[in-house]
Amino acid sequence: MTPGVRPLIAGNWKMHGLAADGLALARAVAAGGEGIAAEILVCPPATLVMAVAAAVQGGPVAVGGQDCHLVAKGAHTGDVSAPMLADAGARYVIVGHSERRADHHETDAVVKAKAASAIAHGLVPIVCVGETLAQREAGEAESVVRVQVAGSLPEGFVAAGGVVAYEPVWAIGTGRTPTEADIAAIHAALRQAVGPATRLLYGGSVKPGNAAAILALPNVDGALVGGASLVAEDFLAIARAA
Ligand code: PGA
Repeated sequence: MTPGVRPLIAGNWKMHGLAADGLALARAVAAGGEGIAAEILVCPPATLVMAVAAAVQGGPVAVGGQDCHLVAKGAHTGDVSAPMLADAGARYVIVGHSERRADHHETDAVVKAKAASAIAHGLVPIVCVGETLAQREAGEAESVVRVQVAGSLPEGFVAAGGVVAYEPVWAIGTGRTPTEADIAAIHAALRQAVGPATRLLYGGSVKPGNAAAILALPNVDGALVGGASLVAEDFLAIARAA
């Protein structure tokens, strides 16, 4: 953790959740989140952002989107814009997740434009970076995330409270995590790149069993949690470990 920084525990539900189970999950997280020191965020699929935001309003849980378009409106079938998410009750939006970089061919320039649109419409962007297994094995992890950060953070990012999430691609959904020393090394490099004010999250197979050790590392200011965020008790246990 970074002294004096309120940790952020963010749940990325990905493409999971119909209304009944999504709302039940959000309500369980909100009820269990009372009294937890960390800031708690849930990022449901776009179809549920408005209903989840209404369900948790006034409680300890904030709501975010998982992606936004880089412009506010227009002829972009199937897309959701930053002002739409803000209007639905979101306060945050994840941009540049490795699944979007891979599945939707998002480049650093696109991610940067999305983060800029988020900021322009009052959302806090959570920009994801992380190396592939091949890049890690080639010793390129640190240089890859440095290049991604340099290319993906728009002007005004720090002032807007923007968040960076380090998510090694090979650790996402695999049950594998980097060593604590490797996480600390990347976060130290990120800290150098973004300065003291930006919260740095670790993501990739964070679970109740490894959260405390990861969250205790220097320059780790929270977690971006996928699979374990779909089980309220697991997600809350991670939040309590922060
Ligand atoms: P995971 O996903 O916790 O299931 O590994 C993390 C993420 O992709 O944000």
